[in-house]
Amino acid sequence: MPPLKMSDSPNTKGLTVRHISHSYGGEAKRPVLDAISFHVADGAIACLLGPSGCGKSTLLRMIAGLAMPQQGQVMIDGRKVTDAGQKHFIAPEDRHVGMMFQDYALFPHLNVYDNIAFGIDERMDKTWMHQAIRRLGLHAHVGAFPHTLSGGQQQRVALLRALARSPRVLLLDEPFSGLDADNRIRVREETIELLRERSMAVLMVTHDPEEAMFMADSILVMKQGQIIQSGSPTETWLGPANAFVTELFGPVNRFCAKVCEGVVDTPLGRFAAPPSINEGTEVDLLVRPDGIGIAESTQEDFAGVHGTVVAARLLGRVSHIKVDIGNDQLLHVRIAGVILPKIGTKVAVLVERCSAFIFPCQDKQACVSDRAETYQEGAASSKAMPFSLRKERNSPL
Ligand code: ADP
Ligand code: MG
Repeated sequence: MPPLKMSDSPNTKGLTVRHISHSYGGEAKRPVLDAISFHVADGAIACLLGPSGCGKSTLLRMIAGLAMPQQGQVMIDGRKVTDAGQKHFIAPEDRHVGMMFQDYALFPHLNVYDNIAFGIDERMDKTWMHQAIRRLGLHAHVGAFPHTLSGGQQQRVALLRALARSPRVLLLDEPFSGLDADNRIRVREETIELLRERSMAVLMVTHDPEEAMFMADSILVMKQGQIIQSGSPTETWLGPANAFVTELFGPVNRFCAKVCEGVVDTPLGRFAAPPSINEGTEVDLLVRPDGIGIAESTQEDFAGVHGTVVAARLLGRVSHIKVDIGNDQLLHVRIAGVILPKIGTKVAVLVERCSAFIFPCQDKQACVSDRAETYQEGAASSKAMPFSLRKERNSPL
């Protein structure tokens, strides 16, 4: 897989974005995009992953040439298509960029075929286009108008329209968000197959971490107009840069502690502090619920952390178990399969070290005061509500 890295060579193939900054309502306002730089190599798929409102669509619009940034440059295959400093701007239709919008933006007055073939030179070889129409099951609908199509079919038409002119850069804005869960998995697989066959740089926007993991060679994590981490899906999952990135991938258990003699002592045991964190620093220990194991056990037969099961629910593929580990603290555990211990079962708790992360406490107030109330406000996205460690009254579980 071609890696995603910054390159200074003007001849570099693919998409290069350099120091893009922009504020709506003038430069005095807080920037929507703040010094964004990255490179997507030809043939690579990169995903911009971030919560709603962090500036993902704005960035795509600047790359497509639908808007001009206040600062920065965009290069496609080494050719400058936007340079804010020099007021240099190539029109969107001359950039060799394909763009698929979140709402598909199909032309309502054109049928499927004309939507896909829109703007294609009559003399161009359309073999690929005809084959792709058949492959995606659209051949029976070429004369149909967009409003008569299902969401999945509209998505396919929009994708083929974006691909039909053989773009050098393909931009996809939340391409699967309008589809139901069943359709999404199928369409996602079809899409990635189609993209892999073409030579171009792909930049896809999503707020769904699983989608980014599935599609991308590289993930660019965005927060408030900045790219705060980039790397392969595995690197990003195993080495999140901070609590925000960790929580973007799903809810976590959170414990507050202090570094003391290089060690972080928590209700879940003692953890070595990362060398970069100074002695005495207040830190958060974040533990993914699927990185915790439980086994029926009494205090006598196991020296580690113990707890009592207070709730167990089957969620389908996984079971969600709540364990009271004392001192008014609850631990949320997720285990694959049907694991439903009885309420009151005494268990030993085992933490997988690669699912536990220590970061300097970002919100000191939340760390020392009433955390349970501050969790949700600090959540990185609607999907990433951290679990409260306090005992919850009237909990549905
Ligand atoms: P995302 O795609 O990550 O959800 P957007 O790029 O759409 O985020 O928006 C980023 C921020 O910029 C949001 O706060 C949004 O309200 C604001 N914004 C987007 N477009 C405009 C615009 N044309 N004028 C003013 N503010 C805008
Ligand atoms: Mg958007």
